[in-house]
Amino acid sequence: MLVLSEQIKHDIATHAESTYPNECVGLLLGLIDGDSKVAVAVHPVENRWQGQVTLADTDDATSQRDRFYLDPRDYLAADRAARNQSLDIIGCYHSHPDHPAVPSERDRIGSQSAGGGISFSFVIQSVQAGQATEIASWLLMDNGQRFVAEPITEPET
Ligand SMILES: [Zn+2]
Repeated sequence: MLVLSEQIKHDIATHAESTYPNECVGLLLGLIDGDSKVAVAVHPVENRWQGQVTLADTDDATSQRDRFYLDPRDYLAADRAARNQSLDIIGCYHSHPDHPAVPSERDRIGSQSAGGGISFSFVIQSVQAGQATEIASWLLMDNGQRFVAEPITEPET
């Protein structure tokens, strides 16, 4: 499961609202504690999608409304930031402007290189008409074949 404090959820929601109607993207830094991942900090990164992949089914290949690109250099910078705080990258997050917090087929294919399993969460923040709404976390299982919902809990006080 993934442990998200009110502060972390607020940080993700604020980032997602700020990039609306485009998708935001970032990484979650934290600790692995038994079978839970505890998010300690968010590491926003720039959505660098600029039409790296041209799809025949899209009219605007450079739109960031339904896709994001996480640059490997940004990932490495986040990894350094994590290590400096004795943390690990425990997942990533992105927003779904005017769509539910459910991964798309594009997300599944685009996430293959991130690996999967229970040690890496894919958090999706839905934004409806500019307002952050539901948030959900997903695990990429079966060698990237499918996303499975992951429970989100509050930290114990
Ligand atoms: Zn998505």
